[in-house]
Amino acid sequence: MNPTIMVVEDEPAIQDLIQINLEMSGYRVLTHDSAEDALKHIQIELPDLALLDWMLPGMSGLDMARRLRSDSRTKTLPIILLTARGEEEDKLKGLETGADDYMVKPFSVRELEARIKAVLRRRAPELTQDMIEYHGLKLDPASHKVSGNAKNLSMGPTEFRLLHFFMTHLERVYSRTQLLDFVWGDHVFIEERTVDVHIRRLRSALTPSGHENLIHTVRGSGYRFALE
Ligand code: CA
Repeated sequence: MNPTIMVVEDEPAIQDLIQINLEMSGYRVLTHDSAEDALKHIQIELPDLALLDWMLPGMSGLDMARRLRSDSRTKTLPIILLTARGEEEDKLKGLETGADDYMVKPFSVRELEARIKAVLRRRAPELTQDMIEYHGLKLDPASHKVSGNAKNLSMGPTEFRLLHFFMTHLERVYSRTQLLDFVWGDHVFIEERTVDVHIRRLRSALTPSGHENLIHTVRGSGYRFALE
């Protein structure tokens, strides 16, 4: 699943430059000229990261970042602020609103991509292509392959996403609702019981190498992925 990046920038040349480059790198890009439009779109679809220009007509990128941080649905959305202002004071102000990173124009697209990757790795590791290994269980997001003790394990796309999420969020308990939000995407109206069905399928996919015991059912709370 390619991460979706929302770009809010009123200068068409910069918007195009960012969009073309990010799309070439495999991201899905949503572009908006104003914070107002972008906020409307967020009601329908939550991106994986927002790239906000500070100076926008109408609501500023800084105010949009504040707005996103104060709403429970968008509180943890990764944000990078773009700005033409390079003063240290501005930088602090930007980061104080809860932005994860801050870039001064003009910037190189390469550096922007490196920052996007770093923010995603920190905030949403399941969205990166990094290979993961945990107690003999290996998951390769690039080739969509899973192996347990060198044995190939086959599974459906939903089980793969579920496992990717678990392997990047070890030892924490997630409720069915949280798993639906993180793995199926928010605003998806699926019954919580669906989660149990896919957990059962994932457990049986992991059985050939004995890794099914890594998924723990926590009574009354949800699921946890860990050795113990
Ligand atoms: Ca601008």
